[in-house]
Amino acid sequence: MSERDLRERMVMHGKSMFDRGLTVGSSGNISVRLPDGMLVTPTNSCLGRLDPDRITKINSLGTVVSGDQPSKEVFLHQAMYQSRESEQSIVHLHSTYSVAVSCLAGVDAEDVLPPITAYYVMRIGRLPLIPYFPPGDTKLAEAVGRAAMQAKAVLLANHGPVVAGKDLDAAVYATEELEETARLFMLLQGHSTRFLEPEQVAELRQRFPS
Ligand code: ZN
Repeated sequence: MSERDLRERMVMHGKSMFDRGLTVGSSGNISVRLPDGMLVTPTNSCLGRLDPDRITKINSLGTVVSGDQPSKEVFLHQAMYQSRESEQSIVHLHSTYSVAVSCLAGVDAEDVLPPITAYYVMRIGRLPLIPYFPPGDTKLAEAVGRAAMQAKAVLLANHGPVVAGKDLDAAVYATEELEETARLFMLLQGHSTRFLEPEQVAELRQRFPS
């Protein structure tokens, strides 16, 4: 896909997610890896109204080559790309149900959500919880980079998900699957629930390795 097409597709997915309430205001950011750097949504931009020509292009050293200043959260994307060489796109949202789950006490920090559905297991797999760090703390990037060695999606405590995919479509669809699963998990709170059995999860991981 050409860089022009990638820019147009970032605009399309941004608007689609914004229109469905997956992101509000100027929160959330999307990036796509390029051979010599990345495209990332600009700081203070609304995902519902992105301008393809103002999307930030940065080189592999992190220097802005063209477009507006990058999202302040670009370091999350850089940390994740460094740990996951095969992944080509990353989505980070403050989507409501995923953030709600990120605030729950007593979850398993190694894998926050239980295997509710087969599609969740196939698209996300394991979801580590990254401890809370205040905005701008470089320890957050270190923690994300470490956790991303073992997982293509991480959940930042009291903040939101960061999800990588083999391309932009895959990253967006996995983020949506995570948000819907988080919604189901919240709906099921207080209900006696049957999750997938460990053998069923093992079979899925064998048949559909991520
Ligand atoms: Zn954020």
